[in-house]
Amino acid sequence: MKLIITILIFITSVIYAKASIAVSIPPQKYIIDTIAKDLVNTIVVVKPGNSPHTYEPKPSQMVALSKAKLYLAIGVEFENAWLPKFAEQNSNLKIVHLDKNITKQSISHNSKVKNDPHIWLSISNLKTIAKQSADALISIDSANKEQYSKNLNIFLEELEKTNAKLKEILSGISPREFLIFHPSWGYFAKEYNLKQIPIEIDGKEPSPKELVAVLKLAKKYKVKAIFTQPEFSQKHANLIAKELNIRVKKVSPLKERVLDNMLEFANTLKGK
Ligand code: ZN
Repeated sequence: MKLIITILIFITSVIYAKASIAVSIPPQKYIIDTIAKDLVNTIVVVKPGNSPHTYEPKPSQMVALSKAKLYLAIGVEFENAWLPKFAEQNSNLKIVHLDKNITKQSISHNSKVKNDPHIWLSISNLKTIAKQSADALISIDSANKEQYSKNLNIFLEELEKTNAKLKEILSGISPREFLIFHPSWGYFAKEYNLKQIPIEIDGKEPSPKELVAVLKLAKKYKVKAIFTQPEFSQKHANLIAKELNIRVKKVSPLKERVLDNMLEFANTLKGK
């Protein structure tokens, strides 16, 4: 009798267990939670405070990933080294690359390589990411297709509303240039006709000569603040802020509530 009950519990748990979906960064969790609600479990690999450029998953995350059904890759750097390892230990893992239909831009104006990975900080890119995420969810769970499609449409409407709000906030902003340590807001800047001036050059701290050039630009455009993010060192940002007599503001490209994060950033840029 005891054995039968154990077997029954096991079978029930297999049948009713939610599928685990893995994503690289928190903004993707927000998208999956919006589209899938409680139909799936979402595993986020890079938590805020860590850099998706250099992250190495923990052993406990490797265990969780070994049971995942779907991995939604977004094109951040750590995936290059780790996706093959995730696939190797989990032959049932379906990997979908959400960045494949997104046109990449270069990370700074003096670089010709179009490899800026921060694609999620853009309403139009988020539309593509959300649609492809929904398609991927349906591909592994077609029984709930209607739910996913319905929730996707609600999310797409929310994106439109946020876009209108962002346009309104940023319409008369001056200056349109902003100073930022790590250049993660390039797609956002392009969408609203803004220009980010990065302090970091090609992922490295600037040389004294490069720093002088940045200071010159910042003075020319009369920027009001310098943006830093918790994932990177504050040393240079504080120095520059002191030199230019401007404020240091924190912003993270990895906050889960990506739409609120964009609105908050726009309001901070405007000086609210
Ligand atoms: Zn980055």
